[in-house]
Amino acid sequence: MEDTIAAVATAYGEGGIGIIRISGEDALLILNKVFQPMRKHINNSVITDKYEPDSVGVTIGESIVNRRLTYGHIIDYSTNQVLDEVLAVYMKAPYTYTKEDVVEINCHGSIVSLRKVLELVLRSGARMAEPGEFTKRAFLNGRLDLTQAEAVIDLIKAKSDKSFDVALGQLEGTLSDVIEQIRNLLMDELVNITVNIDYPDEDIEEITYDKLLNNLLQIDDMIQNLIRSADTGRIIKEGFKVAIVGKPNVGKSSLMNALLKENRAIVTDIPGTTRDTIVEDITIKKIPVKLIDTAGIHDTDDKVEKIGIEKSKATFNEADLVILILDGSQALSIEDENIMNVIGNRRTLVLINKIDLGQVLNEKKLQEKMPKALFIKTAVKNGQGINEIENKIEDLVFNGEVKQSGSTFITNVRHANLLNSAKTALDDAINMVRSGEALEFIEIDVKRTFEFLGEIIGETVSESIIDEVFSRFCLGK
Ligand code: GDP
Ligand code: ZN
Repeated sequence: MEDTIAAVATAYGEGGIGIIRISGEDALLILNKVFQPMRKHINNSVITDKYEPDSVGVTIGESIVNRRLTYGHIIDYSTNQVLDEVLAVYMKAPYTYTKEDVVEINCHGSIVSLRKVLELVLRSGARMAEPGEFTKRAFLNGRLDLTQAEAVIDLIKAKSDKSFDVALGQLEGTLSDVIEQIRNLLMDELVNITVNIDYPDEDIEEITYDKLLNNLLQIDDMIQNLIRSADTGRIIKEGFKVAIVGKPNVGKSSLMNALLKENRAIVTDIPGTTRDTIVEDITIKKIPVKLIDTAGIHDTDDKVEKIGIEKSKATFNEADLVILILDGSQALSIEDENIMNVIGNRRTLVLINKIDLGQVLNEKKLQEKMPKALFIKTAVKNGQGINEIENKIEDLVFNGEVKQSGSTFITNVRHANLLNSAKTALDDAINMVRSGEALEFIEIDVKRTFEFLGEIIGETVSESIIDEVFSRFCLGK
């Protein structure tokens, strides 16, 4: 039997309410010790464990009803002191977050109240929960698989609509379903292989290497698709990094501002004013985007500007996209060409800016210099072309993948690594099928593929990995 754990489940600091969560077989007993419901005639009543097992909302003892908030006071039984005025709820196992008996006490959201009440709860028989321990119990008790538990962390940490959507889908089991589907297909092949190994001469559906090869290749495709979604998944989670470059005065800050739709970076008429790298987190079409404004990349004697230039060169290596701004009202300069050389083959969107002033820049020559780049004519100062930029970013992020929420993206490095291991094992199996090796050897690698996928959902996973996953949680979840 597991012991009973408790923790503050809400964020520390000032808040309207703060919640203390208790989980385990003594949860109700502890509530009983520390909580006094507010109705006079039940002042001395004991909250008992009497209930009708399968129904919700049945009275337990005289005052606590399963899953109903009850108003009352937390009283320190050793001093008779009232610690807080609260709403408490008892949720009978197994229909709870942990599948254990759960109690939640809604206190006033001050650190003082939460600390005092938690301390009393711990004195009354609960143990302080470790980070993620509630969710770990939900996993160990079979309410969530490992990908769903990991989705809980992602939900808590989500910083954009899109990453929240993907995490929510994962919590609802979209990723688990795909993994299960692939594992079922692998299991079919394993059964076929085993039967053919065990009864090679019997009149059972004969495994032909052709058929096996076909099926394994199909499974390989499914795994490959998941692996491919990891690029988008990472962007959804961490943000799409866009470096904005261009010589001084072409409109970098104006673009930042237009995208921010508020004046965060300083716009000025003096060339070379924006000297440092500025990073801004914004959301474009639900996608988190990290905008990196850079000083113009050019040779300079000015020390301060040099630092800015060094930084902007460094940001290139991290950027998912470079936006190069050119002044379309002027001819291409040596400075522009130098920047183009630094950009090299990186994925680039070229803005021919200040188009409102009339175009002088030779576009043909430009396209010859940067044959792979995308080009947009803009007047960022007036907002012209901003929409098109946003659409391009969205297209690049999804790279032809489905945009709606709920589609499966790999957003977790652990999952990506296991998928790669699964694919390597499966490729080994496929190669052996191709060269007609004995089924016994092929079976080993198909089984390994099956197990790597099982690790993703937590079916075949070691305790240390489980501990590592849950150590990333915050306290009280
Ligand atoms: P940065 O040095 O590259 O960051 O350039 P800024 O954004 O500070 O802009 C330099 C100057 O160009 C400012 O006076 C802007 O108002 C002006 N500017 C920026 N974009 C445009 C545009 O599309 N059209 C026109 N006419 N002026 C612009
Ligand atoms: Zn600027």
